[in-house]
Amino acid sequence: MPESVAIIGAGLVGCLSALAFAKEGYHVTLYDFRQDPRLDTTQNKNLKSINLAISARGIDALKSIDFDACGRILQDMIPMKGRMIHDLKGEQESQLYGLHGEAINSINRSVLNNNLLDELEKTATDLKFGHKLVKIEWTDDKQICHFAITDDSTASLQTEKFDFVVGCDGAYSATRSQMQRKVEMDFSQEYMDLRYIELYIPATKVAKPEYNGNFAIAPDHLHIWPRHKFMLIALANSDGSFTSTYFGPKDQISDLITSKSRVKNFLIKNFPDIKNVMDLDDAAERFITYPKECLVCVNCNPYDVPGGKAILLGDAAHAMVPFYGQGMNCGFEDVRVLMELMKKHFGDRSKAFAEYSQTRHKDLVSITELAKRNYKEMSHDVTSKRFLLRRKFDALFSIVMKGTWVPLYTMVSFRSDIPYSRALERAERQTRILKFLEPLTLGVLSIGGFKLFKYLTKDRS
Ligand SMILES: Cc1cc2nc3c(=O)[nH]c(=O)nc-3n(C[C@H](O)[C@H](O)[C@H](O)COP(=O)(O)OP(=O)(O)OC[C@H]3O[C@@H](n4cnc5c(N)ncnc54)[C@H](O)[C@@H]3O)c2cc1C
Repeated sequence: MPESVAIIGAGLVGCLSALAFAKEGYHVTLYDFRQDPRLDTTQNKNLKSINLAISARGIDALKSIDFDACGRILQDMIPMKGRMIHDLKGEQESQLYGLHGEAINSINRSVLNNNLLDELEKTATDLKFGHKLVKIEWTDDKQICHFAITDDSTASLQTEKFDFVVGCDGAYSATRSQMQRKVEMDFSQEYMDLRYIELYIPATKVAKPEYNGNFAIAPDHLHIWPRHKFMLIALANSDGSFTSTYFGPKDQISDLITSKSRVKNFLIKNFPDIKNVMDLDDAAERFITYPKECLVCVNCNPYDVPGGKAILLGDAAHAMVPFYGQGMNCGFEDVRVLMELMKKHFGDRSKAFAEYSQTRHKDLVSITELAKRNYKEMSHDVTSKRFLLRRKFDALFSIVMKGTWVPLYTMVSFRSDIPYSRALERAERQTRILKFLEPLTLGVLSIGGFKLFKYLTKDRS
């Protein structure tokens, strides 16, 4: 008899976990309190971003679980080779992510989720939507899961027994709170003073040859309007539209949404070029009526219940702010790392889960920290001459010191072989060196500039 596992949460990470365990021959049941998102009748499919960026860690994790399925799951993604910075005058500047054309990829969240569910249908996985986990009883033998049936007006309860549980039920995980009753788990939760609102840039009516489609702005870049305390971003969708997200302080948004004209004036003043591509009436309407979503960071430790009874993956273990575009990538990597440990310990869950908790924590703490720091980089640093100069030296050193010097963004987004904690350590060392060299390089540049000035202004008559 194969061992039975309940995967709680059919979001992105839950689906990949289910696929991974199903491929290894476990008897998998995947639960979600929502209805099947592939049904036309399903309302409120997902409250988070409409599209997201998938990079090397996410793609490599998918390939490690099912190489062939990866191609099907990731169809329709749009490569983004850099950031396009929009300044206050409406000018645009491209800042490439990598020296060798490396790109992150924009992909529609529901397409990705639905494609993962379609792959799961090809396995023996039981999919149970409309089931909300409310309680777990931990026993030496089986874990008894209690579900409220959410599609049933009588709100009945159902109980099922499993050998173990994988909690992928997001930032407000019910699995995690049930585990906290059994395990001495450190836990922290922090809200950012930011809210986000999703806006929309429609496809153009006439195809633009320079963009090879109906895109109003370059689809091969992640667009950023950095305004220090707030910012707007936009990622392309395969139908030619862009999903744009406004991030700003809670109080500022509350002040703005008192009237439509106030919102429109604010948008025109701070993002002058968007009036050419976005319907400002629609944007103001969205500001006022759409949910102002909050951003929460979660950290906990350990991630398992001893004896291989349960483990937490994805946002349930490490919700982070979205500014490095790594939340899902990291969650996918969780699945890869866990399955590698299961193989290493020949399926001994007890050992694999314990080692996962011991070894994974430093990487998860590092990426949550890096994600927080990246808000400053995206909203502010990208406009600073000093930051851009440092980036140029960063790139130069990576060419000269091949392999031993790798820019942080490259390590995080394009090098799944470098753990997040190692990336953070290396980047901090590199930044110290760059800061140390900065006065020297500025000096050399200014001496060079002075000499050039003297040469140009020399009276040659
Ligand atoms: C604005 C924004 C932009 C982002 N952009 C990116 C990006 O570009 N790249 C990236 O890598 N990441 C990004 N992220 C992060 C990414 O969305 C998350 O890391 C990812 O969705 C986590 O997946 P998950 O499956 O762990 O959790 P979720 O997506 O939260 O899924 C959890 C699932 O569990 C279900 N559930 C919850 N409670 C229960 C219960 N009691 N019983 C049964 N089911 C339950 C929910 O219905 C849900 O389906 C972004 C996040 C935000 C907010």
